[in-house]
Amino acid sequence: MKAAVCREFGKPLVIEDVELAPPQIGEVQVKLAACAICHSDILYAEGAWGGRLPAVYGHEAAGVVETIGTGVSGIQPGDHVLVTLIRSCGTCHYCSQGKLVRCESTFRLDAQSPLRAADGQSIVQGLRTGAFAETVVVDASQIAPIPKEVPLDAASLLSCGVITGCGAVVNTAQLHSGSSAVIIGTGGVGLNSVQGAALSGAERVIALDLSDSKLDAARNFGATHTVNVSKENAQEAVFGLTDGRGADYVFVTVGAKSAL
Ligand SMILES: [Zn+2]
Ligand SMILES: [Zn+2]
Repeated sequence: MKAAVCREFGKPLVIEDVELAPPQIGEVQVKLAACAICHSDILYAEGAWGGRLPAVYGHEAAGVVETIGTGVSGIQPGDHVLVTLIRSCGTCHYCSQGKLVRCESTFRLDAQSPLRAADGQSIVQGLRTGAFAETVVVDASQIAPIPKEVPLDAASLLSCGVITGCGAVVNTAQLHSGSSAVIIGTGGVGLNSVQGAALSGAERVIALDLSDSKLDAARNFGATHTVNVSKENAQEAVFGLTDGRGADYVFVTVGAKSAL
């Protein structure tokens, strides 16, 4: 199959024919239909987070199950699925508390990449997924079935940006209905924090950004108020919109120090 391989940090990815080993116990092979480009992929490919090369990045994907390893239940060939980077055992200290993203277990795929170059060299399965490729082999815990009527290109966004932004609000903060929330930054993650706050019943969802077009998008995702911080004082605006209390919750979804 073909994959986009990172052979040198900061250089364009190289499309190569690579070999993918078949799924083993508890693993699933998925033919990908779409993979979004997450900022984390770009940072890895630039070398900002280090790691070994060659590597195939990409972790925000959706596709159709081709084959399953032994011991996999609840998933069948032909199922439409999301492919995420979250690999979890379901039984460790954190998994048993429902905190799957903190799973402490190690998996066969952590030690043994399924990817090989044509010359036999092992290729790192970047972000535990390696989805800048036609097909992936991942642990079954990384798969989430979706209805067949959901377009797979749109669905791929659920595999990272949506669950990061929405999950921070709904699962981590467990935002209460009737509360107020400020979301700083309305990129892919921020828009989904806006959406999560709206879905959780926040009375005021206040989106902050420097871009009017992004703030327009935030309104479509459920922001009740928007503040362009290049034109307005953020602190005054938020106190003004929250009866002088300040927000009950603040979600910072940008990496800039100035946002803090
Ligand atoms: Zn991501
Ligand atoms: Zn676990």
